[in-house]
Amino acid sequence: MEIRARRWVVAVLAVLVLTGGLVTRALVPAAVGGPLGDGLYATLVVLFVALVCPRTTPWVAAAAGWAVSAGIEALQATGMPADVVARVPLARYVLGTTFVPLDLVWYAAGAVLGGLLVALARADLGEIQVRHTRSVRAHRRGLVTAIVAAPLALALAAGGAVAWTLRGEARDLRADLAPARAALAASEGRVADEATRTALAASLDDAAALLAERPVLERRPGAAPRAGEELTTRVEAVVASRLAEARTVAGTARDALAPVTTRGDQVLAATDGLGADEKVRAALATVLGGAADTSAHASGDGLAAATDPAAVERTAAELTTAHDAVGAATVALLTAQDAVTCPFPDQVWFPETGRLADAGLAPIPWAPTYRLRADVLPTLVALDDAFRAHFGHDLPINSAYRSYAEQVAVYNPAHPNPLAAPPGCSNHGLGTAVDIDGISTTGNAEYAWLEANAETYGWTHPDWAEPSGRLPEPWHWQSVKTPTSY
Ligand SMILES: [Zn+2]
Repeated sequence: MEIRARRWVVAVLAVLVLTGGLVTRALVPAAVGGPLGDGLYATLVVLFVALVCPRTTPWVAAAAGWAVSAGIEALQATGMPADVVARVPLARYVLGTTFVPLDLVWYAAGAVLGGLLVALARADLGEIQVRHTRSVRAHRRGLVTAIVAAPLALALAAGGAVAWTLRGEARDLRADLAPARAALAASEGRVADEATRTALAASLDDAAALLAERPVLERRPGAAPRAGEELTTRVEAVVASRLAEARTVAGTARDALAPVTTRGDQVLAATDGLGADEKVRAALATVLGGAADTSAHASGDGLAAATDPAAVERTAAELTTAHDAVGAATVALLTAQDAVTCPFPDQVWFPETGRLADAGLAPIPWAPTYRLRADVLPTLVALDDAFRAHFGHDLPINSAYRSYAEQVAVYNPAHPNPLAAPPGCSNHGLGTAVDIDGISTTGNAEYAWLEANAETYGWTHPDWAEPSGRLPEPWHWQSVKTPTSY
């Protein structure tokens, strides 16, 4: 065969290989198409070598093709091709961009295929070279060998590429499983939307089932990366939901802490100089300082800027701890002040006793010189309505809210069991107690009626004021809203 005809055959084969390479890139997933394309690239280079030097032997052409392909691949290690591709994007298809040592193996497979095709081109048209003493039969045997070996080599290369790809994909998916399981476990009971956890659990099950499938027969290239992407997306959804929940919990804890610290500050200020144990006061001051720091960390902006759910959860826990600590230290100081100021267990000290704001007090309608806590007054009005219906006159009031100064005036510290409690210890100062005149005589009908009916309207006669109590005071009645302990 003439060299010219042989060139035509090689040229046609080159076009076919080029087409095959482009189709591979376009249609086959990158994991398989990449190695296959690399191989066909080397095949194409071998065919070019045979085109340029038609007299070269197939194996020299194959070796030259591999060397050129490997050379360009090695060049990629210098970064120069990447620069060229950045300026001339189309050069990507000739130069590539990234040096991958494994590509050299695919080039070798492609070069072998190229050598076989060159040998095929020479034998195909019946050209029998008699440069040596080979017989026609020997050349035909070579042709048959080439026809069988070429697809076999290609199939082996493709099969190897698929197996290698599947192995890598499975390894990557396995690596994703542990962090996804950890995210699921860590988020239990801590997400705003439980559906995100359900979805992640389902993805984990799917991924485990996929990894249990037989490679190639059941698990195809691309399936594991898709499962990995889904896993990643769902982990992100769980983390986002956990962060949202943590922000809500921390915000709620911060809001709950605010009134407790306000109360703590108030009690601390009110006990200044009143003789309560200074160690107890110092303890409250310390936890109040800590609570202020923790609250500052949990500002709305701070929570919105936080990205780590675990950190926000820790902040929420610290806020709750601060809430409990301030609450306990406040009660401890109230108790300490009560021990100093109020001599009897039934007396309870409060900083606001006798110091209520006028806005919170209201005059008793039928005895307007006396005032009660405005929210308690309606219950006394209801009691009075019932009392008047029975006795034909209003409850005869002769004391209700007492300011601190008024309590100072009525308190007689020289008396071993004074009728009036020390300032700060009387519930008259809380605006929830009244003294009712004229019901102290034994067997008094109005007193008996009150004993039987006052409770219905939210009014009681405390144990200490009972005839058998510490200080029998038939006239003293108080609202059930009166705090009697901390
Ligand atoms: Zn009283």
